[in-house]
Amino acid sequence: MEITKKAYFGGCHCGAVRFQCWAPETILVLECNCSICFVKHNTHFIVHESNMEILKGEENLTTYRFNTMTAKHMFCKICGVQSFYVPRSNQDSYGINPRCLDSYESLSMKTEYFDGRHWETSFSEKAPQSFK
Ligand SMILES: [Zn+2]
Repeated sequence: MEITKKAYFGGCHCGAVRFQCWAPETILVLECNCSICFVKHNTHFIVHESNMEILKGEENLTTYRFNTMTAKHMFCKICGVQSFYVPRSNQDSYGINPRCLDSYESLSMKTEYFDGRHWETSFSEKAPQSFK
């Protein structure tokens, strides 16, 4: 059965960075406890790059990398908010912060936990799926 794609709009806190993405009507949000998601209290849902369009402010994005240097933790250099990033698990995709969506209040979400503290084991047991 085909999953219905829905368009969502969002952005950072100051509005310099805006994006549009396409995801299912009920989005699967990952709550991860890796070192960076933990301190940021970051949650995200993953969509393939073909389901993501940065509408404006790409020049305002700064990227932070650490450890395996795989993930690209992008954030707005004006307000510091990470609306989305490129996760280590799906480098052809974006992990989007549902709280940065304009329609957050009315979102239909399902939350799953990802044990990012033990990334290799968690990834081999159940790799996060990107919405294509
Ligand atoms: Zn901003």
